[in-house]
Amino acid sequence: MIETDICIIGAGPVGLFAVFEAGLLKMRCHVIDALPQVGGQLSEVYPHKPIYDIPGYPEIKGLELVDKLIQQIKPFLPGFTLGERVDTIRQLPDQTYELASSEGTIIHCKVIAIAGGLGCFEPRKPVLAGLEKFEGRGISYMIRNPSLYEGKKVIIAGGGDAALDWAIYLADIAKRVTLVHRGDTFRGLPDSASRIFELAREDKITLLLKSHLTKLTGEDHLTHVGITDHQQNEQHLATDQLIPLFGLSPKLGPIADWGLGINQNAILVDTLDYSTNRERIYAIGDINTYPGKLKLILSGFHEAALMMQSAFHFVYPREKLNFKYTTVYGVNTF
Ligand SMILES: Cc1cc2nc3c(=O)[nH]c(=O)nc-3n(C[C@H](O)[C@H](O)[C@H](O)COP(=O)(O)OP(=O)(O)OC[C@H]3O[C@@H](n4cnc5c(N)ncnc54)[C@H](O)[C@@H]3O)c2cc1C
Repeated sequence: MIETDICIIGAGPVGLFAVFEAGLLKMRCHVIDALPQVGGQLSEVYPHKPIYDIPGYPEIKGLELVDKLIQQIKPFLPGFTLGERVDTIRQLPDQTYELASSEGTIIHCKVIAIAGGLGCFEPRKPVLAGLEKFEGRGISYMIRNPSLYEGKKVIIAGGGDAALDWAIYLADIAKRVTLVHRGDTFRGLPDSASRIFELAREDKITLLLKSHLTKLTGEDHLTHVGITDHQQNEQHLATDQLIPLFGLSPKLGPIADWGLGINQNAILVDTLDYSTNRERIYAIGDINTYPGKLKLILSGFHEAALMMQSAFHFVYPREKLNFKYTTVYGVNTF
């Protein structure tokens, strides 16, 4: 079981900055996210796009901002559990909370900060007969541990950054990587697309363009994937793993069942401190709603600062909170 003062659900920009605001008040945080990487929408939706409205940065790319946030919170030694969704929360008799993840991780905390953005990102799945039967038995939608693909025959489907990046990465460690894509050009970064064509020319990957997945075969585990090209020729490729990477779409998910006030897929909060209708549970960033709410990163940063001031009283009920400038007191770690 993981013990912490504050459990932050969501490692998007707001969840990450909340660690900093908590750390200034000497509160320890554990951050959990359903995605295998930190950054939320910045990493998942627009990693290479410039953002122009982050104070102090005339222009900064999504992933650069995530890197800066990680640097900023490093002194406070947050714990991270990635690739696991928080499914349930349970209040204990002493008012603290126990959270359980999709993989069975238990986190015990005094306060919950929900920074869940638009909710959990669910993979967009191909429409194929027998898909569910092979999920976890030869089909996965995210790569959590690349070493699992060492020496394996892997088929990746998709034409975006995730498909290109993983095809390039796995080309070095898998027995054979086949990349299947509907079009003949890619949506991903031009540099990555060039690298893919180069690897195909060098016969380090198999590239099947203008092709799509049509059939899954196997008994207990997927063994073959039918792939059909634009001229309707179908081939059956032997494989150990099929990884469709067609992007992710957000769903509020389990948060909807936690007894919180919800309006149009967002959690209702009091703008005094961004608390929800359940004591010790706060909601910050895109996941919350209130009159005048703007779904912007800077709004979430402000909410994180105010929320942590309020949470302090649950973590240190006998201590008085003194407001301090970092210019005067610096960033004192634990
Ligand atoms: C295309 C695009 C462009 C944008 N441009 C700008 C811009 O220029 N400026 C700006 O300020 N904003 C912009 N935004 C909005 C900005 O990205 C969001 O305001 C910001 O990402 C919100 O951060 P967050 O941390 O609240 O949520 P998110 O970034 O959505 O992160 C939430 C995280 O919570 C996780 N999560 C949810 N539920 C659970 C659960 N039950 N268990 C575990 N994890 C969970 C999710 O996996 C996700 O990683 C843009 C958004 C998009 C889509």
